[in-house]
Amino acid sequence: MHHTRDAPATPLRRLCASVCVLSLSVAAPGARAAAALAPAAAPEAIAAQLRDAALAGHDIAYAWVSELTSRFGPRPTGSVNERQAAEWAAARFKELGFENVHIESFPITAWVRGTESAQITSPLTQPLVVAALGESPPTPAAGLEGEVVIFASFDALKAAPAGSLSGKIAMVARRMVRTQDGAGYSAAVDARIDGPGEAARRGAIAFLLRSVGTDNHRLAHTGTTRYVEGRVPVSAFALSGPDADQIERLAALGQVVRVRLYSSASYVQDAHSQNVIADVRGRERPQEVVLLGAHLDSWDQGTGAIDDGTGMAIITAAAKLIRDVAHRPRRTVRVVLFGSEEVAQPVAPHGAFGGHAYAENHKAELATHVLAGESDLGTDRVYSLGLPQAVMQGEFAKTALRVLAPIGVLAAPRAPQEAGTDVDPSVEAGVPAFALNQDASRYFDIHHTADDTLDKIDREQLDQNVAAWAALVWLAADSDVDFRKLPP
Ligand SMILES: [Zn+2]
Repeated sequence: MHHTRDAPATPLRRLCASVCVLSLSVAAPGARAAAALAPAAAPEAIAAQLRDAALAGHDIAYAWVSELTSRFGPRPTGSVNERQAAEWAAARFKELGFENVHIESFPITAWVRGTESAQITSPLTQPLVVAALGESPPTPAAGLEGEVVIFASFDALKAAPAGSLSGKIAMVARRMVRTQDGAGYSAAVDARIDGPGEAARRGAIAFLLRSVGTDNHRLAHTGTTRYVEGRVPVSAFALSGPDADQIERLAALGQVVRVRLYSSASYVQDAHSQNVIADVRGRERPQEVVLLGAHLDSWDQGTGAIDDGTGMAIITAAAKLIRDVAHRPRRTVRVVLFGSEEVAQPVAPHGAFGGHAYAENHKAELATHVLAGESDLGTDRVYSLGLPQAVMQGEFAKTALRVLAPIGVLAAPRAPQEAGTDVDPSVEAGVPAFALNQDASRYFDIHHTADDTLDKIDREQLDQNVAAWAALVWLAADSDVDFRKLPP
C-alpha cells in the first residue's frame, strides 16, 4: 500500500530533492509492453531512479516488517511461528510477482525457553534480571546455587586452571564497546558462544555473562551458545547490565556473592526450520544469480523487528523495486529468507542451519552465483559499500559510488571478508561478497532483548537502506562484471 508521508523534510530528503531529478518508471503489468518499446535508460540512470523511488517511501519495507511482526510475533527456530511466517512470506512473494517461489525445509533440534529466574542469596537477597542463553540446558527443578567467581574477560576465564571452578558459578563481566561498525560485538561475543563450555571444563556448575549489549536498561540480551560434544554442558544466563554491575560492586566490597539460578528450558529433537526462496528472473543470463539474504527466525522475547524483520523487509523491497522496472536486469536477483540463523551450530548433527542448508541444496549453482550480500544489522542507515577486491578499483565501483554518494554512502576501505551468518557458507564456497555497512551504534542497545519491537524502527533510515540495496543490486544484476576475477 502506498502512503504519502507528510513528515517535515529531513536533511536526507532535502539532499535528495536537490539531486533526484528522475522519477521511476514503474511499469504496471499492462504498461510493460509499451514501456519496453522506449529506449532503455542507462543502468546508472535506472539505479538512480530506484534509489529515489525507495527514498520517496513506497513503504513496501515498513509494511512487510509491520505485518510480519504483528501476525507472527517472535519466530524462534523450529517454532510454529517461524514456519507460518515462512508460508506467509512465500505467499506474499507470489503476490508481489516473484518467480521460483518455494520453501526448502531442513531438520533441526529446537531449543525452547521455559521459565527462568535468578536471585542473589548472599550477602543480601535481591532478584536479578536474566535470560537463559540459547541452547543451554535447564537447571535441576530445585535450581542451582553457588558462589560467583568473576572474570574481567573471557581470556581470564580461559586462564583459570582445571578444577578451579568446582561447584562455583563462573561469570564473565566484560563490557561491550559501542562502535559504529559493530566491532564491539565481535570482540565480546566469544564469551557468550564458548563461555559455558570453558566454564564447565574448569568444574563450574553454571555460567553467567554480562549481557553482550550497549544499553543500561534492566533487560538481558539472550543469544546462542555452542554445543560441546553434542550438548551445551552447563546452564547459562545473560545478566542485565545493571545486575552485572551490582554483583561486581558487591565483590569489590570484599563480599562473597552467592546466586541461585533456575531455568526450565527444553529441546524438541524432531523439529524443522526452512528457507524461503524467491527470484526476479534475469532477462539475459538467468542462471547468474545475485543472492540477497536475511533471516526469518528471531529470538523469542521480542518480535524480531530489527533482528531481522527489517533485513527481510529491506531486501524484499529492493528486489520488488527492481522487479517493477520496465525491463528486467540481465541476471537473476534471488531473495532468500533464511531459517535457523540465531542458533547456528557449526557441527553436525546440530549444524543444519539455514545458511548451510542453502549452500548444500544449491551446491551445483554456486559457481554461477555472481555476488552475495546480507542485511542483518537493524534499520539504521548504510554508510559504506564494501565490494569484492576484484572490482574495488574499477568502473563498477565508481558507478555504484556515484549513485550512492547522494544518500551518504562512502567506499569501505577493505573488501568484505564475510557477508553474514546466512550467506557465509555460500561465500566460503567461493561466491564473492558485498557489504552495505550499516550504522550499528544503537543496534546493540536492543539486539536480542524483549525490546526488539516494531516501534524501534526509524522509517527514514529504513528507506535509505532500501535505496542503497535497490541501486547497488540493480547495477550488479544488470552488468556483466565478473566479481571473482582480479583485473590483470
Ligand atoms: Zn540477526
